[in-house]
Amino acid sequence: MKILKFGGTSVGSAQRMREVAELIHAPHLDRRIVVLSAMSGTTNSLVEIARLLYSGDAAAAEARITFLQQRYHEVARELLGGQADALLPTLDQNFQTLHDLTAAPLSADGERVVLAQGELLSTRLVHAYVTEVLGRPAVLLPALDFMRIDTDEEPDAPAIRERLATTLAPYATAPLFITQGYICRNAQGSIDNLKRGGSDYSASLIGAAVGAEEIQIWTDIDGLHNNDPRIVKGTYPIRELSFDEAAELAYFGAKILHPSSVLPARQHGIPVRLLNTMQPDAPGTLISAKTGAEAIKAVAAKDGITAINVKSSRMLLAHGFLRSLFEIFERYRTSIDMITTSEVAVSLTIDDAGRLPQILAELRRFCTVEVDENQSIICLVGNLLQDAHGSANRAFTALRNIPVRMISYGGSPNNISILVSTDDKVRALQALNEGLFRR
Ligand code: ADP
Ligand code: ASP
Ligand code: MG
Repeated sequence: MKILKFGGTSVGSAQRMREVAELIHAPHLDRRIVVLSAMSGTTNSLVEIARLLYSGDAAAAEARITFLQQRYHEVARELLGGQADALLPTLDQNFQTLHDLTAAPLSADGERVVLAQGELLSTRLVHAYVTEVLGRPAVLLPALDFMRIDTDEEPDAPAIRERLATTLAPYATAPLFITQGYICRNAQGSIDNLKRGGSDYSASLIGAAVGAEEIQIWTDIDGLHNNDPRIVKGTYPIRELSFDEAAELAYFGAKILHPSSVLPARQHGIPVRLLNTMQPDAPGTLISAKTGAEAIKAVAAKDGITAINVKSSRMLLAHGFLRSLFEIFERYRTSIDMITTSEVAVSLTIDDAGRLPQILAELRRFCTVEVDENQSIICLVGNLLQDAHGSANRAFTALRNIPVRMISYGGSPNNISILVSTDDKVRALQALNEGLFRR
């Protein structure tokens, strides 16, 4: 079995949906589960509808829903022609769910129901095109029947495996399945999701659950690039990455992959291929257990980082100090990304500042604390064990005019992390491109 995930732009219009259908329907292909995102822009619209409902503006929410509904009717007609009429009542069920939610104040559960509609709509459209227009067999698998997260909001892999096996059992010979990315049920059985960009994660969780031979992530670019193509000119795709390298890049900001999406594939040794829907023959990027020879392969940046500096001349090196420090972050379920220490101080970074006031109140009971917001982690990823060519040195030389707040080197053979103010991020990424990758 292969897993093929198509992102929002790849299913962003009737024309794109037809192109996706061309890539997935042919009978000679391996058995496959196709995971679809919502059409690009839809999840953002749903976020906006939920925001309007929270703010009590039901009329504005209603207008947005009607606008979206008209757009989907147009897409359905363009995609399915005369056969659209049979599908419109089904699509309208999703819109009725949205209209019904405008009648009362929105709950957190209601918000998650709103956010789930995009993937339910896109899969209905593509499934109808493949079966009704192309006349090919395809099974629409409801992700809500098998995708599960647990009480910690982490994927419940055993439950997913078991439920997916049950869901697939009646279709032992079916060649093609289509399912929703992003959406799932939580431990209470309510509709939930895997956070923004989560369809990649759905694909790799499904791949792990069925022991797939390959997971393909189809998007709008020809693989993972050596630097952020939205910021830096002249980036290029990397042909091969190890699981560890790809996991670091995804976690530290390479938007092409959801931060956690490499982990299930790595755990089960399933290769992940990043491919371009607009250029299906381009080789893309292969993520596997193998790594290439280059030292530093790519750079990514993660914004929204808070740096916390903790000083305590009396206690720092006393044993148990770091433990008491980390216990505070653990109590507030806040994970630490970077850490550096000196004789009298510890600096660390977090990306979720939701519980920062409580954390600071506890830290201030035994330390002096300084906080810097609006920081970015620049992450240099590669095979640094093979760094005989001084690329770390070249990276630091490239950054000579940029104030660096923290450096973390040596924790992993794949990663050097550098903290800069977000105001300096673009300059830092461009300088690193010049210093490391100019060819
Ligand atoms: P999808 O909707 O298919 O999930 P995304 O928008 O989530 O697509 O991810 C693809 C986008 O990620 C690209 O269009 C590109 O702008 C952005 N991106 C950011 N960093 C990188 C990188 N290092 N390599 C490739 N693309 C990147
Ligand atoms: N539709 C969701 C989002 O826009 C999930 C995804 O596209 O991966 O975040
Ligand atoms: Mg994405």
